[in-house]
Amino acid sequence: MLLRLLRQLNRAYGYAVFAIYLAAFGIAFLFVFIFPPATLAMLFISIFGLLFFNALGFVLRTIERRWNRARLAKGICPVCGAAALSSVIGHAGETRCGMCDACHDAQGAWIGSVAQESEPVQA
Ligand SMILES: [Zn+2]
Repeated sequence: MLLRLLRQLNRAYGYAVFAIYLAAFGIAFLFVFIFPPATLAMLFISIFGLLFFNALGFVLRTIERRWNRARLAKGICPVCGAAALSSVIGHAGETRCGMCDACHDAQGAWIGSVAQESEPVQA
């Protein structure tokens, strides 16, 4: 439940931050006419806010990766929860679920559903 919520938040994190900045722009635009120093303050807050949002995104991704690694180590798919259906593909330690086709790398990061690559044909 919590992992699913965290996963959805990580997928939409960039859009959420963009929406926050768009709303801040609208507020700052209104303050141009009401109280101009507030616009200047919001500008600097938003610039340094990028560092905060970048750090927060890193922390959220790290937590999700650790959670995914723990579940993958138990042989459970972090996305659908299917047990004993995960298979390791390739030499990079990528794991693909046979049930939902979700793919995770060795660090536990979600790669997404990837189509099975066909082997190159030797002529
Ligand atoms: Zn799965």
